[in-house]
Amino acid sequence: MYDLIIIGAGPAGITAAVYAARKRLQFLVLTGDIGGQAAWSGDIENYTGYQFITGPDLTAKFEEHMRKYNVPVKEREEALEVKKTGGAIKVRTAKGEYESKTVIIASGKVSKELGVPGEKEFKNKGLTYCATCDGPLFGGKAVAVIGGGNSALDAALQLIKIARHVYMINITPYLGGDAIMRQKVESSEVVTVINNARVTAVVGDNMVSGIMIKREERIEPLAVQGVFVEIGLKPNSGFAKDVEKNEYDEIKVNCLNQTNVPGIFAAGDVTDVPEKQIVIAAGEGSKAALAAFKYLNSSQ
Ligand SMILES: Cc1cc2nc3c(=O)[nH]c(=O)nc-3n(C[C@H](O)[C@H](O)[C@H](O)COP(=O)(O)OP(=O)(O)OC[C@H]3O[C@@H](n4cnc5c(N)ncnc54)[C@H](O)[C@@H]3O)c2cc1C
Repeated sequence: MYDLIIIGAGPAGITAAVYAARKRLQFLVLTGDIGGQAAWSGDIENYTGYQFITGPDLTAKFEEHMRKYNVPVKEREEALEVKKTGGAIKVRTAKGEYESKTVIIASGKVSKELGVPGEKEFKNKGLTYCATCDGPLFGGKAVAVIGGGNSALDAALQLIKIARHVYMINITPYLGGDAIMRQKVESSEVVTVINNARVTAVVGDNMVSGIMIKREERIEPLAVQGVFVEIGLKPNSGFAKDVEKNEYDEIKVNCLNQTNVPGIFAAGDVTDVPEKQIVIAAGEGSKAALAAFKYLNSSQ
């Protein structure tokens, strides 16, 4: 029986782990990867203490900090179910079942899919959801970024430095996102923004050779060798069935990171806390660990 199980090792989960280690809790981190979305980010200019740092570099710093405390991390072991029965909270994964007195859910968000023909077929054959991870594979090629918000702008800014040409396919009349990023994208000579357009299919032979886009009732082909899907994110909360969520499937928490189930806490992008940012997720992770620590002390 652990004191605490932390689900996820993005900024929220890693920070919770650092705090739990410093409180000498008997705990375990179960996670898909280390870094979460922070590892996919390109340039980060708003994490206090760093005027500029890349996502992978900040993730490496987070991981180094966590490893300093010899935190027990089970990578590539995702929670499939979290359930409280009696006094214990059971976390089931594909490899086994763990019991804990408290749990912090910090499982963040995952990319939304386009849901068009060809998407599944060409996944990792020219179609990807991560510009930081896969952008370098598209040197000198024409690519399409699907989306018009901050994630899409971030992907385009990374690809400008690598690809021959970047098309941004945006469903609304104007690009959204932060003004600074938008200006950088719109002023680039290698970017063409196509507004009011919807992708209807991804096409190719073995690899992506293009997309079909619909504009004003006309469907036309666009030749690209890479497709970066950046249309937003959805919370990884499906495994926590008994925990109350809002209409976006975000886990509802109070200011102490408590969910409706005593002993189950949540932190970061998976929650209904407004604004999804690294500094906020990290802060929420620390709060959740301190709240779990207090809960353990009060229930002994
Ligand atoms: C392209 C991009 C650029 C961004 N740029 C910035 C920026 O410049 N500045 C900024 O402040 N923010 C930025 N963000 C937002 C920021 O990255 C997120 O707000 C932050 O990473 C959220 O942290 P988190 O720990 O809550 O979740 P995540 O980072 O999503 O991490 C979730 C973790 O949970 C794990 N996980 C998921 N499901 C399970 C499961 N079932 N079981 C176990 N583990 C699981 C994942 O493997 C991952 O380790 C950006 C996001 C994106 C996508």
